[in-house]
Amino acid sequence: MTALNELTLAEARDGLKAKRFSAREIAQAHVEAIERAGALNAYLAATPDRALKMAAVSDEKIAKGEARPLEGLPLGIKDLFCTQGVATTAGSKILEGFEPHYESNVSTQLWRDGAVMLGKLNLDEFAMGSSNETSAYGNTISPWRRRGSEAALVPGGSSGGSAAAVAAHLCLGATATDTGGSIRQPAALTGTVGIKPTYGRCSRWGIIAYASSLDQAGPIARTVQDCAILLGSMAGHDPRDTTSVDRPVPDFEAAVSRGVKGLTIGIPREYRVEGMPAEIQRLWDQGAEWLKAAGATIREISLPHTPYALPAYYIVAPAEASSNLARYDGVRYGLRVPGKDIAAMYENTRAAGFGREVKRRIMIGTYVLSAGYYDAYYVRAQKIRTLIKRDFEEAYASGIDAILTPATPSSAFGIGEKASADPVEMYLNDVFTVTVNMAGLPGISVPAGLDAQGLPLGLQLIGRPFDEETLFAAAQTIENAAGRTTLPQAWWA
Ligand code: GLN
Repeated sequence: MTALNELTLAEARDGLKAKRFSAREIAQAHVEAIERAGALNAYLAATPDRALKMAAVSDEKIAKGEARPLEGLPLGIKDLFCTQGVATTAGSKILEGFEPHYESNVSTQLWRDGAVMLGKLNLDEFAMGSSNETSAYGNTISPWRRRGSEAALVPGGSSGGSAAAVAAHLCLGATATDTGGSIRQPAALTGTVGIKPTYGRCSRWGIIAYASSLDQAGPIARTVQDCAILLGSMAGHDPRDTTSVDRPVPDFEAAVSRGVKGLTIGIPREYRVEGMPAEIQRLWDQGAEWLKAAGATIREISLPHTPYALPAYYIVAPAEASSNLARYDGVRYGLRVPGKDIAAMYENTRAAGFGREVKRRIMIGTYVLSAGYYDAYYVRAQKIRTLIKRDFEEAYASGIDAILTPATPSSAFGIGEKASADPVEMYLNDVFTVTVNMAGLPGISVPAGLDAQGLPLGLQLIGRPFDEETLFAAAQTIENAAGRTTLPQAWWA
């Protein structure tokens, strides 16, 4: 029999309902797997007592025939979501010792539906990064390794802890957030599925802000169906977040088996970037073939402003971050480093509390928002953002239902390999994902195969606003054709 922590979320749900095992047993299997996997550094804090308590409640509910949609399913929570009474760090020293007295809306809805909390997952500091290397609490190590090598690889970022924990069977699914690719990129690098829903689909209330006009929560899980199940619970209107949209949450799980017959899938020629590895191009062609074989029509399209997306993103995101991070001043949360007066206390706290990448973004953001540079940088970036959005609108107006692209320009890289003197090298990881945040659209990353080194590669599907259902249907078609990725040998346990 498959170990309980190796089931898919849907299998676990059905097994619990059929009383083949108990919520306590499945929680215990995860608690033990987490204990053995310290080497991965995926969890910043495990909450085994809470998990077993929640599981006991689930077992009672199941016994009474009152099971809720996620009853007894153990999940990990990215440490950017505030969790009541459980330390929340955002991967930063500046929030050391911060214990929220409120719970994020998304996690509240997961617990409302009966899910069980296993703990808090590692991430890049304030979700800024593509490799987990900016976490103040050490890198999460990917459970994957190159064939014949023991070199430690990154799990991607910023939701690297979430992706690694899902891939290594340390939870059935995890919450994540995506500002420029932080759900889709780590999912692609770890052979897991991740969806960033449409901006406004999930409430941002209680999620520590990075760049508020781009941030969106979503799930990472091992299958497309599991992501659909989780998003169904995470999504929904919340009056406490004015950007959360008041529209019904569709039955995402039902959409998974819809197929792609009659759909038109766009292949944007601008995503064929210079120097793209042949393997990625082959995978992309293969993805289009799979969709075609399942009844979709494939059409080449143009999204002409794509090349400007990355530079514009790296103006808009730091600008918003510099404003959002102004609140960490040593007065209200976490760390405080005293000084001779209050200004010195602010300076000392921020100097000691923030890491290098966060400081770089605050400086860039402050610069592009300052008088004299505002029009030259920030306003222009916002104009580019409008043009990027228009490109997508025109493609959809011409009859395109979804767009297929690679998820990342490469497979996982080694720790330290890209954290070199040039931060732009790291920023290039997001070349295929940032456009989607700039336009507020939904995007899903689905595993599509392994590269020559035996590492997972993902394909991305981009949808119309609030049409996550088509993404689930198309991603399931790719999952069916590609087969589930063979998960790594548990070298860490
Ligand atoms: N890597 C991108 C950044 O550093 C995206 C991060 C994210 O989506 N949170 O900004």
